[in-house]
Amino acid sequence: MKITAVRAIPMSDPIPEEKRHRTDLGMKVKTDAMLLEVEADNGLVGIGAALGQPAVVQAIVDHDLAPELLGEDPIYTERLWEKMYSGSRATPALATGVSQPVDSRRRGVTLEAISGLDIALWDLKARAWGVPVYQALGAARDSIRAYASGGWAPGEEAEAELGGYAAKGFGAVKMRVVGRDGFSVENARRRIAAARRGIGPDVELMIDAHGCLSVATAIRVAAEVEGHDIAWFEEPVSPDDHAGLARVRDNVNMPVATGEREFTRYDFQSLLDHEAMDIAQPDIARAGGFTEIRRIAAMASARGIRVAPHAWGSAVLFAASIHLAMATPNCHILEVSQAHMPMLNELFQEDFDIRDGIVHAPDRPGLGYTLREDTFERFKYLPGPEFEW
Ligand SMILES: [Mg+2]
Repeated sequence: MKITAVRAIPMSDPIPEEKRHRTDLGMKVKTDAMLLEVEADNGLVGIGAALGQPAVVQAIVDHDLAPELLGEDPIYTERLWEKMYSGSRATPALATGVSQPVDSRRRGVTLEAISGLDIALWDLKARAWGVPVYQALGAARDSIRAYASGGWAPGEEAEAELGGYAAKGFGAVKMRVVGRDGFSVENARRRIAAARRGIGPDVELMIDAHGCLSVATAIRVAAEVEGHDIAWFEEPVSPDDHAGLARVRDNVNMPVATGEREFTRYDFQSLLDHEAMDIAQPDIARAGGFTEIRRIAAMASARGIRVAPHAWGSAVLFAASIHLAMATPNCHILEVSQAHMPMLNELFQEDFDIRDGIVHAPDRPGLGYTLREDTFERFKYLPGPEFEW
């Protein structure tokens, strides 16, 4: 097989004014997604998803990364990851076994683009082999426990919102520490207590602060809510402060989870060296695709740390996360968004198989999903930011 075309297709889904909500990220006015396609000379096409500003990802793919892939055999995913990462020095890198990354490709949007292309290469390779991606990677399971991810409701309304997720059959649920009514330690305590009332004693409850608290405030919040049996406290502080995260972990009586905004095994190595997390949450469309997250998961397993992939984006991103979860032995749970997300639920012809809080793997080749015919017409890219303050 030879790669004959690489396409980067930016997509948007505008949110009608009456459906817009304010969260700690601001007012969301649209959702963006980035679709990658890698085509081979036998007519097979692999698809992937990348986080990052779509128009920027598109320029990076067109000018920087597509030339690394064209003419190559898509079966060689490790070689192609090294080519995308080390550029012209991939030849000495592979000859000596020492990575020599291009300056701009170590992290950031370029790494997000590399992640998306790696997903597309694995989809293409597994389609060519006629097996699902998770089986090509080495299957650990064919179904996994899911958790319902949402929980923005203000004050006492958290009881009904989180209780509603449990009523759908989820045995684990996650809520935001900052609700639609803003943040105070007292309000976080009130909302988390309401959520626990709503789900009862047997459903796992996780909390996510989106990295917006100071170390001292994160420790105070944890102390206020530790009686509610919190399964993990996610991103209590900025992802750029691994030492601060380690201070939080040392001072709270609950596991700490993080990783959705980290890049490559080197960022996770720093988290491990700082002893800053109990649960690693790499995002497949950011941290480096299947190829790199396999390495991250292996490094985490050596420290007894489990992997719970961050999975928040398009249907392509979620499909890739399903295969990652099925092929990662130290993965124990997968995120399932409860937000209104048409590009998650209306992009593919096939439905995701999620029943009674369990996600089941597709048995079709590759990622196992087909884009709907009207996808590019319906989700035409719109310039501008996703959030306004
Ligand atoms: Mg999160």
